[in-house]
Amino acid sequence: MPRHILSVDQFDRRFLDDLFADAASLSPRTRYDRLKGRILTNLFYEASSRTSGSFHAAMTRMGGTVIPVQNVQYSSVAKGEDLQDTIRTFGTYSDVIVLRHPEVGAAAAAAEVSEVPVINAGDGIGEHPTQALLDLFTIRRELGRIDNLTITLVGDLKHGRTVHSLVSLLQTHGTNIAFRFVAPDSLRIPYEHRVLPLDYLETDDLDEVISESDVVYMTRAQKERFERDYDHSYGITAGHMARAKPTMVLMHPLPRNGEIPKELDRDPRAAYFRQMENGLRIRMALLSHVLGWRGGFW
Ligand code: ASP
Repeated sequence: MPRHILSVDQFDRRFLDDLFADAASLSPRTRYDRLKGRILTNLFYEASSRTSGSFHAAMTRMGGTVIPVQNVQYSSVAKGEDLQDTIRTFGTYSDVIVLRHPEVGAAAAAAEVSEVPVINAGDGIGEHPTQALLDLFTIRRELGRIDNLTITLVGDLKHGRTVHSLVSLLQTHGTNIAFRFVAPDSLRIPYEHRVLPLDYLETDDLDEVISESDVVYMTRAQKERFERDYDHSYGITAGHMARAKPTMVLMHPLPRNGEIPKELDRDPRAAYFRQMENGLRIRMALLSHVLGWRGGFW
């Protein structure tokens, strides 16, 4: 059975501890040969910079190679080929498929027919499990813990798949986590992602919760998924930063669309570029895992 990565629900604590230990031991600038001779297909039906780029870099750093299908309009998808036939095709040519697709459940549908591991790199507004792994890894590295935290998520919580995955992962693996959901009324987090028991508060005003937050996780408006024009006037300012804890960690899955002004980049609490580098480490370790590397853990 291939080791698919489809949802954060599949991760147990031992998996996270082993993955994070391996990721922390890897250097994103070093060339390893763990995955020499292995091939990854990067199959992206939606735009991507960091997820596709870091999977490509991770596979290359581990000694493997990549078939980049970044523009499906130049593949047989443009001739009407369906997802499962496309998966069978690239499963024949490679050892692992990283899939991003606009439909919720696409990665699961791909896994049904795939003989090689499928990694969900985002399925519509559904999930983005590898982003949640790197987000949790970042929180643990920055703060040294994933318990007794107030996590504030800001922005388009309705469509943001990174939010949906992170909330679920933190609920399962964090202890004593309080959530603060900050969004305009029309972009509130969907009910199914607020599974109780959950210590949470919803507001449209970051001012209300900024001073108690240990982590502020900003997100952009997912305009490509808007069914209509929603209010997306929100953001964090230097004024908010002045009222935040000196240890607060400011995160963003990126890309940003003005929710975090560039003047905040110099603030040591701005962790989004470190978060991005953590993504490379996590994906190096994750590829080792799904491809059954036997030199270390698992
Ligand atoms: N890069 C993240 C994603 O693919 C966040 C975003 O696009 O806003 O979901």
